[in-house]
Amino acid sequence: MTYQNVDEFISLITEKIRTLFGKELHNANEKDVYYALASIANDEMHPHWCKTNEHYEQKKVKKVYYLSMEFLIGRLLESNLLNCGLLDVTNIALKRLGFKRDAVFIHEHDAGLGNGGLGRLAACFLDSLASLQYPGHGCGIRYRYGLFEQRIIHGHQIELPDYWLKEDYPWETRKSEESISVHFGGSVHMHRRANGSLEFRYENTDEVIAVPYDIPISGYHNHTVNTLRLWSAESQDRNDVANHSDHYYHALDHTHSIDQISGFLYPDDSSYEGKKLRLKQQYFLVSASIQNILRHYLNEGRGPLTQLSEHIVIQINDTHPSLAIPELMRLLMDHYDLNWDQAWETTHKTIAYTNHTTLSEALEKWPKDMVQNLLPRIYMIIDEINERFCQGLWFDCPEMREHIPALAIIADDQIHMARLAIVGSFSVNGVARLHTEILKKKEMKLFYQLFPKRFNNKTNGITHRRWLLQVNPHLANVITDVIGPAWIKRPNQLISLLRYSNDPAFLEQIEQVKLQNKRTLAQFIYDKMGIKVNEKSIFDVQIKRLHEYKRQLLNIFHVIYLYNELKDNPKLDLTPRTFIFGAKAAPSYHLAKEVIKLIHTVASLVNHDYDVADRIKVIFLENYNVSLAEKIIPAADISEQISTASKEASGTGNMKMMMNGALTVGTMDGANIEIRDLVGDQHIFMFGLTSDEVLHYYEHGGYSARDIYNTDDRISRILDQLNSGVFGEQEMEFKDLYYNILYHNDPYFVLKDFDPYIETHELVEQAYRDRSIWLNKSITNIAYSGKFSSDRTIQQYASEIWQLTKNPIK
Ligand SMILES: *Cc1c(COP(=O)(O)O)cnc(C)c1O
Repeated sequence: MTYQNVDEFISLITEKIRTLFGKELHNANEKDVYYALASIANDEMHPHWCKTNEHYEQKKVKKVYYLSMEFLIGRLLESNLLNCGLLDVTNIALKRLGFKRDAVFIHEHDAGLGNGGLGRLAACFLDSLASLQYPGHGCGIRYRYGLFEQRIIHGHQIELPDYWLKEDYPWETRKSEESISVHFGGSVHMHRRANGSLEFRYENTDEVIAVPYDIPISGYHNHTVNTLRLWSAESQDRNDVANHSDHYYHALDHTHSIDQISGFLYPDDSSYEGKKLRLKQQYFLVSASIQNILRHYLNEGRGPLTQLSEHIVIQINDTHPSLAIPELMRLLMDHYDLNWDQAWETTHKTIAYTNHTTLSEALEKWPKDMVQNLLPRIYMIIDEINERFCQGLWFDCPEMREHIPALAIIADDQIHMARLAIVGSFSVNGVARLHTEILKKKEMKLFYQLFPKRFNNKTNGITHRRWLLQVNPHLANVITDVIGPAWIKRPNQLISLLRYSNDPAFLEQIEQVKLQNKRTLAQFIYDKMGIKVNEKSIFDVQIKRLHEYKRQLLNIFHVIYLYNELKDNPKLDLTPRTFIFGAKAAPSYHLAKEVIKLIHTVASLVNHDYDVADRIKVIFLENYNVSLAEKIIPAADISEQISTASKEASGTGNMKMMMNGALTVGTMDGANIEIRDLVGDQHIFMFGLTSDEVLHYYEHGGYSARDIYNTDDRISRILDQLNSGVFGEQEMEFKDLYYNILYHNDPYFVLKDFDPYIETHELVEQAYRDRSIWLNKSITNIAYSGKFSSDRTIQQYASEIWQLTKNPIK
């Protein structure tokens, strides 16, 4: 059904308001309209959802299950309307009814069930799977509290619980009849059956009920509706849940009430915490999901479980769900009577693993004792996998004998989850070309020697439907006006824009769109913070989690440098700039929080200084999340992607901003390199150490931050200002940042890259002044951004890892 007719659509809204709320449209508020529209979208999706499931079941098509501890889906109303083909008519109807669209859409609380890039990737993948008509479902956890809400008080980050389910969430359906039992603790006893085989009996386990909540994932203008299944932990006795439902962050390592398992999302990005509750969450996700997969497989009559891998692929998003390997083994052997060899063959042909990082602090290692106590049978299986793997190495690969300690899954009383994931899967992929090369040549070199065919690259992507079509409709319209709408289904066709990259009329349109988006963001900033920003200034944007390796510090040093220059020479000819930051720090990450405080301290200095007035401004937008990203990205001129080379596995913020016409100032890291390869050096601003240089310094030394401090006046001035309290109220406010650079030798090479960074920004400024040069670069970036659609990424996963075929519905 399509509602081309606006009157018809308005009567539909009217009817919804009556049936949902028992009132007339003229008495309805924005929230009522939100729920009415959500209900209309659901009416549109639900019949196709049933058909999609029917089709997958009856045709017994091969399916992928994407297991992830995080799905950072953000708001769904606008993207669902877009995918269902109802967004245009909605916009017109709302306008006619006198409702502001944003005022309606903000009544949906962001589903912040992820930390950052990894969780957002999972969300983009679901969108692309459905839009490309692939049978693919997500499996995750329905955390009652998503990523914390960030408030800034006197420049400090304060974390508030994100109780996102406070209001009715219209997209989920509870499926209690599909609940699954998950067992923790207890003991395992072996019995020999009459036929001689072994039976494992579990005793005195704690039972947790996993209740699925399903969210429909609609494809774009097709009839595919896949499923995101989020598991909620409940006890048999539902009253138990009500009593504990307001616990948050409590008793992390004490006995947990059952519902705490799906209580909150751990707020650490790119770092590992060996907390027992986190291990429980991981096993809970994995056990519920795999039991569910096997149950459906058998109910659909797809054949014996030894053929599982012909029907099912399980992709694990980082090592967080890597217990899927021993859990699948356990179920196949203990519940379905396969022997070890059959179970192993089936398991490692079914599971594929995506690696997201080479940061050592992020590599998961669980204490052996913790796993043994919490998951005794799982521990036995991991132990056996490890024994057989090491035995194999010893007898079959004599040249590897000396490396066994570095390869063993269990070593130093720890279980190395990445090693388990590599050994137990048929595919190991990195998320950008450089990252995969580093995995093969450095981080996982020995495993690569053992299993060369297992390793492959899948450069990340973003859904261009949300990150261009939805968030930047003005740009989308201008593009469609010149090259037609084919790019929407085939984003590579954006390349046709190159033909217009010197067309003055088109340049002017691109300029106007950006200006309009900057105006909208400036208004938002004014409404939120009461700060007026110059909409003609360069919007220089760094939005991402706060982490040392992402080097927000380098960016703020640039601001301080410019401030010092302006104080020394108030007549300096500088194109006005607005520095825009958005970033959450993990609550326990002290240095990251100090950087947030520094940004605020510099902001209040700079924003209130008359000498600088209107030439530089520093804006920190609090509570960075998907919805805020959607507001900022269309207005960005500069995309700051300045991680220490080798540290950012891929980045996806870089792709979102490129697609919206921002130019990248970036290091030779992650997918920045692939952006550079496409657009060419003249359309991107690259600077700084290469990953080889960084890795060489780490291995052989030879870097001295102190030497740079001693020889570069600009740097010593900044560091001394940091230390002497010129910015802060207190002298020692930033002492840890200062010490980290001068006494811990600047582990992320901020000082080393400072000079080339400043120089690069001077080039940026020159380029910006020549509007046709700048706009040409901007258009070139948009034109090449099609490659970074997650449709391309999913296409590659489907054909190179999953062996999946498209299944049009109806
Ligand atoms: C895209 C996105 C990220 C990832 O950003 P990077 O710059 O790649 O780290 C993080 N958080 C949100 C909300 C995003 O939308």
